[in-house]
Amino acid sequence: MAIRNVVQVGDETLRKKSFPVEKFDEALGLLLDDMKETLREANGVGLAAPQVGILRRVVIVNIGDEDGDIELINPEIVEASGEQDGPEGCLSCPGEWGMVHRPQKLVVKAQDRHGKEIELPAEDYFAVAVCHETDHLDGILFI
Ligand code: ZN
Repeated sequence: MAIRNVVQVGDETLRKKSFPVEKFDEALGLLLDDMKETLREANGVGLAAPQVGILRRVVIVNIGDEDGDIELINPEIVEASGEQDGPEGCLSCPGEWGMVHRPQKLVVKAQDRHGKEIELPAEDYFAVAVCHETDHLDGILFI
């Protein structure tokens, strides 16, 4: 595993749309493992592949609870309800914080690293993190 460089705001990669993952191979596993290590090192709650310069629909979320690292490949928010406002930061925008409006509850459909389909409910801070990271895949930053 290796720590990858986190792309910083101003880099065009962060504003591009990422491509769906089609091959669930060793390279994907390696990317996920590197992203996990990078996230841990940076002490963040989430990381999207474009943040390490890879335009693929891959995100990792870890809000520091017992679930640990959650890998979402090709994530899609299929249900959203309620609302919440909270401060968000981003590893690609060091030192910047902003209040963001998000759903309070959602359901995310995705695949795991082997291509198996998964469906996860998310609420509160976990829902915020899923939205934030999924936004990265469409070139959207919170700022
Ligand atoms: Zn971010």
